[in-house]
Amino acid sequence: MKHLGPHVSASGGVEQAPVNAHAVGATAFALFTKNQRQWFSSPLSQKSIDAFRQYCADFGYAPKYILPHDSYLINLGHPQQEGLEKSRTSFLDELHRCEQLGLTMLNFHPGSSLREISDEACLDRIAESINLALDKTQGVTAVIENTAGQGSNMGYSFYHLAHIINKVEDKSRVGICIDTCHTFTAGYDLKDDYENVWREFGDVVGFSYLRAIHLNDSMKPLGSRVDRHHSIGQGLLGLDFFRTLMRDERFNDIPLILETPDESLWPDEIALLHSFEEKE
Ligand SMILES: [Zn+2]
Ligand SMILES: [Zn+2]
Repeated sequence: MKHLGPHVSASGGVEQAPVNAHAVGATAFALFTKNQRQWFSSPLSQKSIDAFRQYCADFGYAPKYILPHDSYLINLGHPQQEGLEKSRTSFLDELHRCEQLGLTMLNFHPGSSLREISDEACLDRIAESINLALDKTQGVTAVIENTAGQGSNMGYSFYHLAHIINKVEDKSRVGICIDTCHTFTAGYDLKDDYENVWREFGDVVGFSYLRAIHLNDSMKPLGSRVDRHHSIGQGLLGLDFFRTLMRDERFNDIPLILETPDESLWPDEIALLHSFEEKE
């Protein structure tokens, strides 16, 4: 059975995340370990850390199926020194929080050039940011998410992901999260050209780096470069795509995370997706 669950709320403390995940029948989950709209939050209390670890053990969530996501403010490819330094400091804090919680991955959007530097310079800067952070931490893999390519966001092309990985020194601690909505609106036709898209991913990036998938349907069309998630089966990717993905054995041992907008649907979405695994 695949490991599947939503990005759950951690309001009231990180320890609420595994509780919320368990309540909707999740076997994997994502969370923010701090307020995602702030640069810095107060440190995790020992009580919170202990409770988080206890609930994860109680409900059977191994670290490899838990995917923390960093703050949306962080831009590891920031063109200006001040913004870059602030991002790097905040990113390091995020990694330290993962270490404290016994988590092994941190998911993040690569960064944005703000159209002030070239794409290549921005990608190089992102790789350097990752190197600096990995140097100061242990046991946590930096998991780069592909993007829809909205605005000046980098990471919409598989070649961007490969470029960054290529410049990361510790290849054992860098990985990729593929978001199905982002992939589609970035121009990769997962709906009608499923096998070829994954073949290209394998050729350009490599499946050995794939650490997670964000399972989102898309409100916006192929190649629109707009990031608008939809509930499973209600968007332009459609149910057939999700049925195919749930039967794809390449994704058996990684967390599949729902970032779908209507959380009242999560229990049904999870049950529906699992039902696709049973071959008729
Ligand atoms: Zn995502
Ligand atoms: Zn998105």
